[in-house]
Amino acid sequence: MNNSIQLIEKASRGKGLLNEEALYLLNTVPTKGDLFLLLLKTANRLTRQQFNNTAEIHAQIGLNWDTCSNSCQFCYFSEDLKNVSKKRELSEAEVIEKAKEFESYNVGSISLMATADFDFDKYLNISRTVRKHVKTVLFGNHGDLTIEMAREIKKVGFSFYYHALRLGEGKVTKLEREKRLLTMSNARRVGLLVGSCLEPIGPEHSYEEIISILDEMRNQGVAWMATMKRISVSNSPLNSYGEISDEEFAKITAVTRLYYGNKIIHYGCS
Ligand code: SF4
Repeated sequence: MNNSIQLIEKASRGKGLLNEEALYLLNTVPTKGDLFLLLLKTANRLTRQQFNNTAEIHAQIGLNWDTCSNSCQFCYFSEDLKNVSKKRELSEAEVIEKAKEFESYNVGSISLMATADFDFDKYLNISRTVRKHVKTVLFGNHGDLTIEMAREIKKVGFSFYYHALRLGEGKVTKLEREKRLLTMSNARRVGLLVGSCLEPIGPEHSYEEIISILDEMRNQGVAWMATMKRISVSNSPLNSYGEISDEEFAKITAVTRLYYGNKIIHYGCS
């Protein structure tokens, strides 16, 4: 039996994988053929077993459409890329209407997402109002949080806070790795669950970088984990790298799922 098959079998028990084991799978499993299918089927089966064959839809409301001074090179809203010609913000009434509509569909959670420059007090006020109108679990998604800001988020009634240490953080973004990690730890300290994502995956990322981010997220005790491939923004400097294939994305997603085992309470992919 080859090592990849043994590792996939080991991971099928839901106890997770070591960094070097996940790296080995990324390096050795191709994106077609029997081994590829075994990897995908094992990850799929583990997820179905852990979650009793049930999936949830998590809804998201984008509060604004605006440029962001952090100018992440993969982001359409980057100020440097100058893509946003017409700014827009949802009114409080519009946000409540959308939240109620999502609740009527029994979604698993509603995420309130704003670009990182969105005024924090305004974000809290809108979120507070939404909390009064819907009972569904709320997911916060804004910028970095100090411990005081994290307390405010918790007080509003959010259960989760979404935050990620992105691939290439600090190199293709103007944000500091340490602040991203501190935000996650602040969120956890005040009792929020942290939802995160391996993102945005592109052909420019080595498997070593991918494992290093997965390791950081696991050390941060994330409760909700997802994967997302980078979709090219046509005028971004990253556009020349192209995008990973759907098969490559599926492989990385399956290895991510096996890497975390059954410690994660939600898995997603977008
Ligand atoms: S911080 Fe968020 S909103 Fe701002 S540029 Fe980066 S990805 Fe876009």
